[in-house]
Amino acid sequence: MKCKRCKKPAVVGLPSHHTAFCEECFYVYFTRQVETAIRRQKMFTFDERILVALSGGKDSLTLMLALHELGYDVAGLHIDLGIYESSVRARAKVESFCEQHGLTLQVLEMEAEGLPMPDVKEHINRPVCSVCGKVKRHYFNKIAREGNFDALATGHNLDDEVARLFANTLRWDSGYLSDQGPTLPAAEGFVRKVKPLYRLSEFETANYAFLRGIEIHSDPCPFASGASFTSHKELIGELEHRSPGSKFQFYDGFLKRGREAFKMLEKEVGEELSPCEDCGSPTSVEICGVCRVKRAVRDKKAAAAQ
Ligand code: SF4
Ligand SMILES: [Zn+2]
Ligand SMILES: [Zn+2]
Repeated sequence: MKCKRCKKPAVVGLPSHHTAFCEECFYVYFTRQVETAIRRQKMFTFDERILVALSGGKDSLTLMLALHELGYDVAGLHIDLGIYESSVRARAKVESFCEQHGLTLQVLEMEAEGLPMPDVKEHINRPVCSVCGKVKRHYFNKIAREGNFDALATGHNLDDEVARLFANTLRWDSGYLSDQGPTLPAAEGFVRKVKPLYRLSEFETANYAFLRGIEIHSDPCPFASGASFTSHKELIGELEHRSPGSKFQFYDGFLKRGREAFKMLEKEVGEELSPCEDCGSPTSVEICGVCRVKRAVRDKKAAAAQ
């Protein structure tokens, strides 16, 4: 197989684009996809400050490096969830990556916030992953807001977005369908959220991370249930295999033709939000969901210690 751009031997084959690239041309292709995403979805400009959520996985570290090399003003945020050795290793990967590339990094420890995930798992009677996701979104937004960042960027790739869209479509969840997309504009108390890797597949980000020699955290979380869209991703993978390009068409078609329709449906709804009495984050009740979890963990731990 030869590189489509320069005819050197190819190292990455991309059937969905009917093409293949050598290492150098793959970087050019990858960077162009990121630039196109930023431009078409009006994500941010070179004058704006961007906070990048860094889990230590291939997508978030790849995103950080790509944005930094394009010249954007980026800083990283890692949330240390306190999940035993897994969190220690993830944090070490993020810290050494940022040090190696001279990137600014802030680490927020859930232990110090009274919300280490092992305590949440022990004391809260809800699936730990749903609380963990909520906690991460809460702090990403809070730190971005308090640090006056213009946008919060996450490493969601095309496969993540398509699996989520597929799940939302199966349920015809108009609330989520009106809200899903690579750019979510800022709203009262919420910083703009962007996903600059939405045009690139998991295979492509994995190849980029590998070829660039990025040391990633890839151990599964000990609390992972394995349920998070895995079967949807398998189904979609099968569809893509039979009909290359269908993944992107499904998502792009939704952005061009579907999302607006769901936005119209949801226009009337919309709750009054006010700052949480404990932490100042926007909420429709007096104390936001995360602060309520924090209080419950604190009370149950105190009761168990007696
Ligand atoms: S698997 Fe669940 S608990 Fe572990 S980091 Fe992911 S969301 Fe959090
Ligand atoms: Zn080439
Ligand atoms: Zn709160």
